[in-house]
Amino acid sequence: MKLNKLLIVAGHGGKDTGAVANNIIERDINLIVAKKVQELMSKFCDIKMTRTDNETYLTPYECAVIGNKWGADLALHIHHNGGGGDGAEIIHTVFTEDSMGDELSEKIADKFRVIGQNVRRVFSRWNSKENNDYYSAIRNADQDAVITEFAFVDSKDSKMLTDEWLDAEAYAISSALIEFYNLEVKMSYKDVELEEILNMALENPDDMINLIDTLVLLSNNNFDLGIIQKSGKFIDDAILKVFKVAYELGKEGYYD
Ligand SMILES: [Zn+2]
Repeated sequence: MKLNKLLIVAGHGGKDTGAVANNIIERDINLIVAKKVQELMSKFCDIKMTRTDNETYLTPYECAVIGNKWGADLALHIHHNGGGGDGAEIIHTVFTEDSMGDELSEKIADKFRVIGQNVRRVFSRWNSKENNDYYSAIRNADQDAVITEFAFVDSKDSKMLTDEWLDAEAYAISSALIEFYNLEVKMSYKDVELEEILNMALENPDDMINLIDTLVLLSNNNFDLGIIQKSGKFIDDAILKVFKVAYELGKEGYYD
């Protein structure tokens, strides 16, 4: 079970708005959450987005073909529900016996509960013959496919669709994926280079000027401190404190 390639499908697009109510357009919030998941997951796996704007429209079938051609390990379809109701729904693949879609969906459901959303049901369905309904995404996928419906757009449930909740939703989905697939941060060549520079600076911890300069360099390059912790290196509180100060100075452009 691996997740090297993640296809993210922001449901609907273009003239197909999905559910519209309470000043919320499903098409638009699907994309907001999709982009946030992309950002959160980008250090863990390769990602392909089927759309990155609200003008593009692809049928669910076309999205499935993109994932199959690319060789995606998982197709994650992000939707929000319509038709009135309360709570999240997650729909998963039924295409093979060893499909993990059901277990992954339960994991996502658990994470939704953790952030405070109730879950109506986790289920599977592929009984439609049309290729333009969203179950075709499941029917035509060569890989596990999961459709998330975090909350209803057109009921009181829409109170769960503020910016803050959409953030939390993206975190919940991402943390479910990270835990389920046991993902490790994928270090880029640049990360490795920066880590070496940090190691050199740490060999001389008394040279605070050098250390601060190094940490500013790291923060300006979006170096993730989590990488160092994950790779088992110890950074004591003092250095973390210096890092925070240096990060703030770097953000303010103090060292430019
Ligand atoms: Zn939808």
